[in-house]
Amino acid sequence: MNDTLAVEARGISKTYGHFPALRSIDLEVPRGVSVTLFGRNGAGKTTFLKIAATLAKPSHGTLSIHGFDTEKKPEQVRRSIGLLTHSTYVYRDLTPRENLAFFSKLYGLDLTGDTIDGLIQRVGLHRRRNDAVRSFSRGLLQRVGLARVMLHNPRVLLLDEPYTGLDANAVEILNRMLDEAVEEGRTVVLTTHDLELGLRGANHVHIIDRGKIVHSGEGTDPGIREAYRQYVRGKDPQ
Ligand code: ATP
Repeated sequence: MNDTLAVEARGISKTYGHFPALRSIDLEVPRGVSVTLFGRNGAGKTTFLKIAATLAKPSHGTLSIHGFDTEKKPEQVRRSIGLLTHSTYVYRDLTPRENLAFFSKLYGLDLTGDTIDGLIQRVGLHRRRNDAVRSFSRGLLQRVGLARVMLHNPRVLLLDEPYTGLDANAVEILNRMLDEAVEEGRTVVLTTHDLELGLRGANHVHIIDRGKIVHSGEGTDPGIREAYRQYVRGKDPQ
């Protein structure tokens, strides 16, 4: 175990039936940095995040979050991570405040109204805090989802395609939150198809193609753009 790492994946493979979704992934994410995983549709990005979040088991290999093995210590892993997926997991008939109060109880957290209001403020939803989220745009729903994943003060944020469907204002708010998270010492691991958004705050970048890491570099590494053209954009059906 390496106690400077937020995520430590060793030889992670995942097969669905006979289909190899991940093929022997080795990946180290230091604590307190932002990492972007690029890959075209079906490359394996979501599968990797699901394993990191204890939602799927690897077929081979091990993955630890802050030293906790996802298979041996799933409870500790879940306490350490905040996972944001396309489903924001909010109740449409409840307001942002009611949603956060509900999830806070569900998670067994004893959060005060002030703490919840602070989170709502942070995601820029103060003005809408008492409106049912039913009427919210994708960007606003995403903000409630972000506040939800921050409720338990996670050390590692796992975000699957967080920019999808967001307008420019929502992208700005998300970027600010991610920057703040890193400033606070949290680790951010996000997946995206979008080169510029993915490079923006990234300390490290990995490109996944057909279940394998095919390129890794610093966020500023000029080689990333060429690898992106080769493995992501050139093959992406979108
Ligand atoms: P996307 O951007 O489309 O979400 P991705 O890089 O996140 O793509 P994954 O969702 O991890 O890719 O999927 C990797 C491969 O594994 C794909 O070919 C997908 O069809 C397959 N796959 C994912 N989940 C399952 C499953 N539960 N059963 C069978 N195959 C699956």
